[in-house]
Amino acid sequence: MKNYIICLVLLLLFCGCTPYLYKATNKSYRKQVKNFSKLLSEYPLKDSAGLPYAANWVGTTNFSIRRPNFVVIHHTAQNSCDQTLKTFTLPRTQVSAHYVICRDGIVYHMLHDNLRAHHAGLGKWGNVSDMNSSSIGIEIDNNGSEPFSDVQMNSLIQLLDRLKKAYNIPQANFIGHMDWAPGRKVDPSRYFSWKQHADKGFGYWYDTTSVKVPADFNPIQALRIIGYNINNLSIAIQSYKIHWVPQDTTKVINEMDKKILVDLMKKYQ
Ligand SMILES: [Zn+2]
Repeated sequence: MKNYIICLVLLLLFCGCTPYLYKATNKSYRKQVKNFSKLLSEYPLKDSAGLPYAANWVGTTNFSIRRPNFVVIHHTAQNSCDQTLKTFTLPRTQVSAHYVICRDGIVYHMLHDNLRAHHAGLGKWGNVSDMNSSSIGIEIDNNGSEPFSDVQMNSLIQLLDRLKKAYNIPQANFIGHMDWAPGRKVDPSRYFSWKQHADKGFGYWYDTTSVKVPADFNPIQALRIIGYNINNLSIAIQSYKIHWVPQDTTKVINEMDKKILVDLMKKYQ
């Protein structure tokens, strides 16, 4: 009973401290959101594209707010959630994510899903060239060279499930930062189990049991069809391996990879 009370007090202290710690940055968040809502509620609408159409303003009655259509998963490459929360609340870093999942499974929500976080940066996936505009960014507290904790993965799956349902995000559109930015990014690391997530409907996994590789099969085009930017082939292969063959640290496509790619290509095209 005594331990229970101590835990409760510590919990209350912690919950009480967090908003205090971020009082100033929360205020800045509210101010920025207010500016955006002011812009959206402008009436009559001036002109979004900077063209002189204001005189022709007729508001449609049929619209909704834009929705995210991708989820990009990251590891923070930092040593604690506190460190990451700090990084994402310092204006000079210019980086952020919608969610941060701590090692103990606690999820911090840092930005409304309908707003644009600065998490993906430069990259390309399929024909998408501005991932920040169309995605939710999730950062997993992990230094990049350690396994992900079970409670953390449970929280992630719960969150992915909610996002998938809320925004009708296609199964193929759950990707890693390294898929989006080969070479520049390697997160989430090889410790991240994409198979476990694909089994639950987030991204696809392969089944090579009855795959026959056609004589004219082109693995490079298969990588492109899946979504990879193949301008620099060896780094595209590196990202593919981190995602689908994490035990293989080479940047070479072998016979097994060809089978995997034949199967994945069908799922992602
Ligand atoms: Zn990242």
